[in-house]
Amino acid sequence: MIKEELNIIKVGGAIVEDEDSLKGLLMSFSGLHGKKILVHGGGKIATEVASKLGIETQMIDGRRITSAEMLKVVTMVYGGLVNKDIVARLQALGENAIGLTGADMNLIMSVKRPVELINFGFVGDVKYVNTRSLKSLLEVGAVPVLAPLTHDKEGTMLNTNADTIASSVARALSEEYSVTLTFCSSIPGVLRDLKDPSSVIRTISKADFAPMVADGTISEGMIPKLQNAFDAINDGVAKVVITSPSDLSGGTTILADPETDD
Ligand code: ADP
Repeated sequence: MIKEELNIIKVGGAIVEDEDSLKGLLMSFSGLHGKKILVHGGGKIATEVASKLGIETQMIDGRRITSAEMLKVVTMVYGGLVNKDIVARLQALGENAIGLTGADMNLIMSVKRPVELINFGFVGDVKYVNTRSLKSLLEVGAVPVLAPLTHDKEGTMLNTNADTIASSVARALSEEYSVTLTFCSSIPGVLRDLKDPSSVIRTISKADFAPMVADGTISEGMIPKLQNAFDAINDGVAKVVITSPSDLSGGTTILADPETDD
């Protein structure tokens, strides 16, 4: 059976925050034919709104903690302002966009991350993606725009990394569709030298990845992003790319693990 194509584009916080980059990304996205889903991050907007409300952003070991107060802010900002702004702009471009969190139609259920070394607060690890409901939206020509929020199906919203949402949704929908997953950020791909935007590595495998983390070539947000990318390509997603909005067909292509006989 030949599967229908589905494009899932994940747009990072730095693009969401920058007017020109966001405009360019949304233009490119609306130029894609066929079924598509946009997943967006939130960037620093939630931190800025929180500080205006007198809510402090808690960090432990450089990692953001989602307190009960911060959860309210991210729900308002990611699920409201950022999501609806993107929906309105896509509607202006003729896309039948619908903005959703994981709670809407029970699209993405997660569990609150257990407290181990760090208590991350109201952060959800994805457990279930409702492919049937997502498919029903795609079948009527809707373009889902997913905020980085999930729920525990017990009444609580949870903050979930947008790369993880994109990877989880892509993997779940790959049973039905031939999915291309594109992680779009302000950087043109995985770089050999972070200071040189022309040093994009065209393809990367897990075997390349480990030594590049060890020698510091790949660091920070690129590590979990690549882990999400490898999870996707090894779990049925047809194509996974890391690139920038101006070059949706370029960037770094993620290679699947070699097949083993067992
Ligand atoms: P997003 O834009 O999706 O929020 P992140 O900021 O989480 O993405 O992760 C991407 C970041 O990873 C880049 O902005 C860059 O600073 C960092 N990074 C570390 N190593 C590399 C590398 N080798 N190539 C590209 N980016 C890298």
